[in-house]
Amino acid sequence: MKTMHLMKTLCLLGGLAATGCASTSSHGNLSSLSAATSQDAAFCEHRVPQENCTRCHPELVSRFQAAKDWCGEHGVPESQCFTCHPDLSFEPLPVLAPGADLMKLSHEGEDVPELAPHAVPDKVTVFDFYADWCQPCRKVDAHMFGLLNARQDIAYRKLNVVSWDSPLARRHLGQVENLPYLVVYGKDGKLVRTVRGFDLGALNAALAEGGAR
Ligand SMILES: [Zn+2]
Ligand SMILES: [Zn+2]
Repeated sequence: MKTMHLMKTLCLLGGLAATGCASTSSHGNLSSLSAATSQDAAFCEHRVPQENCTRCHPELVSRFQAAKDWCGEHGVPESQCFTCHPDLSFEPLPVLAPGADLMKLSHEGEDVPELAPHAVPDKVTVFDFYADWCQPCRKVDAHMFGLLNARQDIAYRKLNVVSWDSPLARRHLGQVENLPYLVVYGKDGKLVRTVRGFDLGALNAALAEGGAR
């Protein structure tokens, strides 16, 4: 079983592309350390937000290595390695408006036995299983933040799985191969459907089905 979990992790570290699955131990985590901190962040010649680039700022290397965000093969953070991950995203998240309904249910992979009791009455509730090393998860965040800012009838509940072996992952992600993994509950408090992997079309359809206007 341990081998299976490892395979799962390595495939994910490579992103959703098939190329990532042949990864080796010289590769690390995709942390969120490389993401830009502001909307107008400048990019350097290495196509990375300049403020976070380890080639422009070698003194930052230790911070990435401490987070195990390091590609030993190419000598840059995994989250800045375009050779291993051609589709890296550094988008900062949109600023969240006051009143946007966002809560974190699991911070460090701790168990949340049931989702249904956390579904918000008269809102469509999106439960988002994510990890810091999951780039597509950040794109889901950007999409959801935009929706939360525009409307009051959607609730967003974040669950940080941290790894495939956390109590949270062991309970909810047994059959799930890719993050993000979203579970959508309708305004009536009933499960609408799950969305596996990065699929904004399916997410929008689930929101509509759940009664979001
Ligand atoms: Zn640079
Ligand atoms: Zn690399």
